[in-house]
Parts: sequence; C-alpha cells; structure tokens
Amino acid sequence: MADRRFAGLLEIGAASKELGSGANQGEPERTRLFITPMDSPVDGGDFNLSFRAAETDAARARENRRWLRFVVGRPVSCLHQVHSARVLDLDQVLEGAVFGDGDALAERLVPLQDEEADGQVTVRRDVALAAFSADCTPVAFVDEQDGVFGTCHSGRRGTEQNIVGAVVDAMRSKGAHAANISCWIGPHICGNCYETGEKIADAFAQRFPDVPGAAALTRFGGPGIDMGAAIAAELRQAGVPMEHIHTSDDGFVRECGKRTGRTDFMAFCTLENPLLYSYREYTLTSRPRCNGRFALVLVP
Ligand SMILES: [Zn+2]
Repeated sequence: MADRRFAGLLEIGAASKELGSGANQGEPERTRLFITPMDSPVDGGDFNLSFRAAETDAARARENRRWLRFVVGRPVSCLHQVHSARVLDLDQVLEGAVFGDGDALAERLVPLQDEEADGQVTVRRDVALAAFSADCTPVAFVDEQDGVFGTCHSGRRGTEQNIVGAVVDAMRSKGAHAANISCWIGPHICGNCYETGEKIADAFAQRFPDVPGAAALTRFGGPGIDMGAAIAAELRQAGVPMEHIHTSDDGFVRECGKRTGRTDFMAFCTLENPLLYSYREYTLTSRPRCNGRFALVLVP
C-alpha cells in the first residue's frame, strides 16, 4: 500500500511469500493484485468500472477505466462478463503485438469489452487482467514459476459451471502447472450473508455434496449458499494445493479497518465491507451510491 503508483487501490497478496517464489531475492517485485474501492482515489466520487450496470454513469465508468490504466501503468483487459464458464486466451487476441506498446495493446483490447467471457489467461507481462464484481467472486491465478496468469468472475452460476477449473485448464495449456498456481478467492458476498432462497440453495447443495456448508442458513435466517467454499473445493479438485488457496488477506483486512475506522465486519464480504460495491446492498437500500462494480486487478 505504500507506493504512490498504486495509491488508493486496496492491495491483496502483498505479504504472500508465494508471489515471489519463482524469483530470486533482490529481483524486482513481480505480480501484484489489487481491489478497486468504490470511492475514486482521484476525486472521491464513484469508482464504478462497469458501463453496463443499470442506472450508472457510463461516461464516468469509462473515465474510471482510463484512470485505472494510468495507475497500474499498463492497459487493463476487461471482458463482458455473462456468468459463463468461457475463458479467453488473451495471447491469441494480442498475437504479434509488440511487448510494452501500451497504446497499441489498449487498442487491441477494446473489442474485448464486448466479448462474452468470464475468465482470461495470459503469459504477457505488459497487460493487466480485470475481473468485475459486486457480490460475485473475482478470482486471481498466479503461476510465477511458469509465468502464466489468469483471472475470472465466478458468481453463483459460474461456480456451478466450475469456471475456476476451466481457468486452470487454460493455464495448463499455456505451460502452467497446477501445483505452481496460487489463487486468491477475492471479496464476495459471504456464506453468512448470501441468502438465495431454498430452490437455489438445494440445487447448490446437490451440486457440491462434498463441501460442508455449501448451502446453509444465513445470519438473516433464510437458506443461502457459500460460493467461496465451493470455489475452494473446485480449485483443489483442479490440482491447486490447498496451501496456495487464499480466502482472505491480512494486509487487505488491516487497510479496510484503517480506512473505515471499524473492525466489526468481514472485509472479504462485499455486503459487509462498506468500501466495496454490493449488488445486494444496492437492491436492499436503493442507494445509488452502492450501485456499481469494483474490480480485482492482476498486474503481472
Ligand atoms: Zn457477509
């Protein structure tokens, strides 16, 4: 959180030893992961990054995306997320593009804003990958040793379709090894908060019979589901070692506490964390302030 370049973004994974496992001590810092807060670090206004979210200012969202590119220092690949299990190979899209030519890369990435897919993988280190969310689960994949990276958006439907398994497969096809992959299951509405009704909860429990608590009563008293637990199980099944699967992050939790002056909430839960967009919160409160999408951004 200390350096000026990424000022205002919420970092996750900074303390993890695994991020640097492929590099020797003294080598430049490698992959970094950020969560964008709902308050713009530029002017304190909204930092919504979706120009598709209903009743939001699309021009402002485009401006926010431009600023995101500026602050992470490279073009950011953004997809049109549709709750699918489709994973895009970014290297095919960018084939032949000169390394580091930011403007040319940004130009090539523009059509992806309308490309219907929910996951993306790359071996390039000159683009950043974004996964949008407002309660759904953004997931980051880092194989520093083999130099392969990915992100995805795994909401309830994406989780039922095992998009995280599809990302691991796509990374493998680019030379990654599941045993070398570290995953961050990003902020999402937690199992204690995500009320879905009985029908969805029952189907989820049947889909994940081996995951304890995949469906359970929430703190509001109704049936709900735990996306994070199901996604962790899918990652383990895909061969990602359990100790490489991160479901929270101390640095992120501390920073959220510092910014809010509170510690009585779960920082990785979008409904509880006042710094993050939550679709559920918006539908419950109708407060325009809560309407938008944040991003998990992977900067290889
Ligand atoms: Zn919660």
